[in-house]
Amino acid sequence: MSDYGKSGRAGKDSGHKYIFVVGGVMSGVGKGIATASIGKILSARGLSVNLMKIDPYLNVDAGTMNPTEHGEVFVLDSGLETDQDMGNYERFLGRDLGAEDYMTSGMVYRSVIDRERNLGYEGKFVEAIPHVRDEIVDRLNHAAKVSGSDVSVVEIGGTIGDFQNALFIEAARLIKTKNPNDVLFVMVSYLPVPATIGEMKTRPTQHAVRELNSYGVQADIIIARSEARLDKKRKEKLAIWCNINPDHIISAPDVESIYDVPINFERDHLADILLHALGKDAKHDSDFATWKTFAENAHNGKGTVKIGIVGKYFDTGDFVLSDAYISVIEAIKFSAYAEGIKPEISWLNAKNYGTNPDAVSELKDYDGILVPGGFGETGIEGKINAIKFARENKIPYFGLCYGMQLMTVEFARNVAGLRGAHTTEIDAKTPNPVIAILPEQVEKMAKKAYGGTMRLGAYPCELEKDTIAHEAYLSAEALAKVDGKSVISERHRHRYEVNPEYVEKLEKAGLVFSGKSPDGVLMEIAELPKDVHPFFLGTQFHPEFRARPLSPHPLFTAFIRAAIARK
Ligand code: GLN
Repeated sequence: MSDYGKSGRAGKDSGHKYIFVVGGVMSGVGKGIATASIGKILSARGLSVNLMKIDPYLNVDAGTMNPTEHGEVFVLDSGLETDQDMGNYERFLGRDLGAEDYMTSGMVYRSVIDRERNLGYEGKFVEAIPHVRDEIVDRLNHAAKVSGSDVSVVEIGGTIGDFQNALFIEAARLIKTKNPNDVLFVMVSYLPVPATIGEMKTRPTQHAVRELNSYGVQADIIIARSEARLDKKRKEKLAIWCNINPDHIISAPDVESIYDVPINFERDHLADILLHALGKDAKHDSDFATWKTFAENAHNGKGTVKIGIVGKYFDTGDFVLSDAYISVIEAIKFSAYAEGIKPEISWLNAKNYGTNPDAVSELKDYDGILVPGGFGETGIEGKINAIKFARENKIPYFGLCYGMQLMTVEFARNVAGLRGAHTTEIDAKTPNPVIAILPEQVEKMAKKAYGGTMRLGAYPCELEKDTIAHEAYLSAEALAKVDGKSVISERHRHRYEVNPEYVEKLEKAGLVFSGKSPDGVLMEIAELPKDVHPFFLGTQFHPEFRARPLSPHPLFTAFIRAAIARK
């Protein structure tokens, strides 16, 4: 694997199409949602699409990053820990994506350096160009091949002009040079409306397009993000200065819901433009009608349900951040919309319930309480107090991963009478380690091998009949039958687990383990029987990663229904 030009790997017209999405002017204007929406509108035209995210940082994956810095870590079926954009891609496309669909500079450099160490470059200099660039091209082509898709829509992270993403843009340019008819560049830019002037300004976008020109790349389409719709004058100005067909300038004003974005794009005929530019035939798919109905439901909910999320990754300086839990929030929304209502989600900082246990009484005003995944000590006693309050006051409670582990701790302490019960993640010397580290994790931790080493990705889980969990999956027709058993598959990300030595004691005290690993060793779902509590359920896995707009997650739906019933 070396000289790209010589091997000519991307030199032949493969027929596979690429749409590269780059950012102009500034970050945070919705490049990820634009990419996901392009995927949606193309797949609604009967094309097979794979969506890819390129993150230019040197982390090998997103797993080692702090959620307050980086947002949620989204886990794929394969177990790869990725950027939260991958979650949006899966939700918009309505299908699972593969590990090949995600790429970081860290991954790319690691492969190149490993190959160099193995004499894979036959004694040559190993350089950013061609070797790193060619590794990027190879990965793009490999992803296209594995997915078997017609089109790859690839979001190149960062903004044009960054040092870090330049090699990725160069790789994209090369693919375009070799296959001029198969590649499009879409720039998602921002048009400010300065308050003092009150006029929408196109100049920053003009500069961004020229900056892209300096890479040897001409933008084919501009998605113009702004507060308002673009007027004709602005479109003409951009068209002239940026050398772009005015019809290829798509207005993307702020919208209330991200799920309206594909519908808005279609207002400016973006799918037709892309299909025409790529020489593809356009079909229509009924899927888009279903999407439209879903997006409308997001606006039309009658009544609300109040859900309190008790977590810790909220505060950064003076701002409150909800990005760390984006899949959880979206999963709640999908189930609520399907029930015809709007969720009213509140961020409740767990720390407050630890220092001031009486503060938990405010939870009585909520229809449902959720404790999401998490790590470490911050806010932990507050979460346990909140769970106790939900259990004692019969408020629907849903615990995800850490939320299930802490629910088990709470139950062990306050119902099963296991004094000082805890997870060994926090208290290694607890007299009752009801949650303990998975045996295979001990050695990894001793070696400080933190990256990509948790129990990650999709694992099967067998459900116990006549339980809330079984009923939920059954009614959503989401159960597979394997050897006569009810089996589900869900994604994981954890190092700790219900300690098998305590299972019997906990069961005797009334906790039901309604989902277990097929070998019966790992407890995947815990719940209280319906006659004891309307909904008190936790999962060791992360159901939120499998919730989709058009197929809400059965357990979230069961939780929302219980919350509605409480209202
Ligand atoms: N900290 C817990 C563990 O490692 C839970 C992880 C999580 O919530 N994702 O097992």
